[in-house]
Amino acid sequence: PFHKSKGQHILKNPLLVDSIIQKSGIKPTDVILEIGPGTGNLTKKLLEAGKSVIAVELDPRMVLELQRRFQGTPDSNRLKVIQGDVFKCDLPYFDICVANIPYQISSPLTFKLLAHRPLFRCAVIMFQREFAMRLVAQPGDTLYCRLSVNTQLLARVNHLLKVGRNNFRPPPKVDSSVVRIEPKNPLPPINFKEWDGLVRICFNRKNKTLGSIFRQKTVLSLLEKNYRTLLALQLSQQDFSDDMDTAVAVSALGESMGDFGIDGDDGRDDEDMEMDDAATNSK
Ligand code: SAM
Repeated sequence: PFHKSKGQHILKNPLLVDSIIQKSGIKPTDVILEIGPGTGNLTKKLLEAGKSVIAVELDPRMVLELQRRFQGTPDSNRLKVIQGDVFKCDLPYFDICVANIPYQISSPLTFKLLAHRPLFRCAVIMFQREFAMRLVAQPGDTLYCRLSVNTQLLARVNHLLKVGRNNFRPPPKVDSSVVRIEPKNPLPPINFKEWDGLVRICFNRKNKTLGSIFRQKTVLSLLEKNYRTLLALQLSQQDFSDDMDTAVAVSALGESMGDFGIDGDDGRDDEDMEMDDAATNSK
């Protein structure tokens, strides 16, 4: 009955659901966003804890099941189900996002949330363990990578809970972790695309020190070329460095992080830090 391609692994341990609710610090006044409610095991307790729940679910069969489960109950008027792909809909206002998501959307979803305005208080999300560990990794940790740097640029992240695979039906092949993501406000005033270009270079090659990366001829000539482009642009366009709309900028970062898969792709790729129009014509 469950679609593997939609990442359908249902939370079957009620104690775990309780502990996710408790750790997420939901207030009775909160509008809660849930992505991928499935059959509604988490939804039910979110409704008990907050003011209302907006649940975005891709699978029409799950939407039917949810409606069946909640119709006629006192909770039903505080639940709004949106059927569709979370990436194709404009998210409504919410205070907090709590979700057990399909792991293949981890990276794009994280950056979609971080680009959302107005800012929400926090997101409490179940991820594949490895992905969670990368999110929270600190400089010097083996798992510290482009994902860690870019997420922590935009948010404070904490590991909340380790979750074994047997808490789900059917059990996934990997263990999981619940992570809390709290957007930073205000964000540092930088050009995120330019920043990401630099971060890509830093994490380009496994097991290379920054010192050796920035002695490479190819890297140095790329930086020099970009610098010349920048100078030329500044001459022609005095207000080059003015800040672009931050939400737009964060979205751009999110799109470039969208390819950050969880299956063996560690985000270290060999793309250059070419300055293209989008990076330079930020106004
Ligand atoms: N939250 C439920 C639970 O914990 O028992 C189900 C979790 S299951 C891991 C993920 C759910 O997300 C599935 O119901 C799946 O249909 C839904 N889903 C998958 N891709 C989605 C997308 N792009 N947008 C919205 N929902 C999606």
